[in-house]
Amino acid sequence: MELHKSTAHELHNLLVEKKISSLEITTSIYERIEKLDKKINSYITLTKESALQKAKGVDKKISKGEEISSLSGIPIAIKDIISTKEIRTTCGSKILSNYIPIYDATVIEKLKKADAVILGKTNMDEFAMGSSTENSAYGVCRNPWNISTIPGGSSGGSAACVAADFAPLSLGSDTGGSIRQPASMCGVVGLKPTYGRVSRYGLVAFASSLDQIGSFTKDVRDTAIILNIIAGHDSMDSTSVPEDVPNYTKHLINNAKNLKIGVPKEYFIKGTSKEVEKTILNSIETFKKLGAEILEISLPHTEYAVAAYYIIAPAEASSNLARYDGVHYGYRTKDEGRGARDGDISAIVDMYERTRDEGFGDEVKRRIMLGTYALSSGYYEAYYLKALKVRTLIKNDFDEAFKKCDVIITPVSPTPAFKIGEKISDPLQMYLSDIFTIPVNLAGLPAISLPCGFSSEGLPIGLQIIGKPFDEGKILQASYTFEQNTEYHLKKPKLN
Ligand code: GLN
Repeated sequence: MELHKSTAHELHNLLVEKKISSLEITTSIYERIEKLDKKINSYITLTKESALQKAKGVDKKISKGEEISSLSGIPIAIKDIISTKEIRTTCGSKILSNYIPIYDATVIEKLKKADAVILGKTNMDEFAMGSSTENSAYGVCRNPWNISTIPGGSSGGSAACVAADFAPLSLGSDTGGSIRQPASMCGVVGLKPTYGRVSRYGLVAFASSLDQIGSFTKDVRDTAIILNIIAGHDSMDSTSVPEDVPNYTKHLINNAKNLKIGVPKEYFIKGTSKEVEKTILNSIETFKKLGAEILEISLPHTEYAVAAYYIIAPAEASSNLARYDGVHYGYRTKDEGRGARDGDISAIVDMYERTRDEGFGDEVKRRIMLGTYALSSGYYEAYYLKALKVRTLIKNDFDEAFKKCDVIITPVSPTPAFKIGEKISDPLQMYLSDIFTIPVNLAGLPAISLPCGFSSEGLPIGLQIIGKPFDEGKILQASYTFEQNTEYHLKKPKLN
């Protein structure tokens, strides 16, 4: 049996039927990682010892006949921006290369309570800034479908490890597309829940008003299963919302009749690859054949989304990243410089500067400078305040559109995975990779990326389905229906 190919729900059934143990599952996945992740570099840190320990514990529970959760004994990978007690958490940065948190993020607590087996921490763009996982202090991550291409980003490691069968599922974070875009490029399912649906406590902050934790899975059923576990109000996160958590697996209904799907004309624009456009139009046809009603809608402020995002996100980042000063966390320069010993007050400023200069990579420095500029006196009104107003207009566009439809369908990314190195020296080109995902974060909405086809070069293409706030259920229903009637999610990259 090729255990590594299985979904979490398939593994769960095998565990319950006692056909396999969690130890066997976990061991076989580590064997695969140890043999093949050299090619991909999807993990920064592996936690094999504690994982095997945990797996044995679950096996004991099963042998005693205890009831187990849907993720008991199931291995999972975690993006290295989510705080894990006693496990190094680097955020893909040199500045946190030696940082070992003393607490678990709420999502990790929940996974531990569900007896999931944590495999390790995955590679990412430094502090989640990027669209390619090339901005990592731990080396570039590669796309399992073609290792000369990027896996997308910033959660590239979490997407690549699921696509490469180095984990049945994983967690990532999405500030402007970092779950959906890599999911699309790696051919897996990626969900960004509604802002406030999943606690951000313990998610290292990039842009707090946009960040959200979500999942990568091999099919839609697993997306529902993990959302059941991680969603819910948390008193430790003041932006988490006290809404009931429905049973998301109940929304896995194979039926598109009565589904009203909006297709925004502003998302079919010059610059999108013909192959991507064709694939999305085909998917819309599929929904039509399945009985959905398709209507054209308009989201008129879409063209301003990227510009607003690149004011708001860097502004928040410049503030959030002030804490990395060589004192509170992680790395400190080895060269403390002039006056450090003779009490010269300027020495401490010198130490901050050297630490931040050596510890942060270029993209992070670029964002800190952009954000500091946009927030500075005289520019605040012209840039930051204006961007916030644009954000409201974008949110209003969606509110208007959702009066007419249940979900909105768009491309995820204008192109399939691009070549490593292709956009790294052109930040503006890189920023445009998120043109279709960023508006969703600005409006705080839930959205999924679903495998919906392949390019002529055999690279995966994803379909974005956007829902109303807290209506992940509808997204799951639409996605499940599409998946049940297509086979894109079954194709696998060839690694060996
Ligand atoms: N690519 C976008 C950025 O660089 C979004 C990243 C993210 O969602 N974390 O900011």
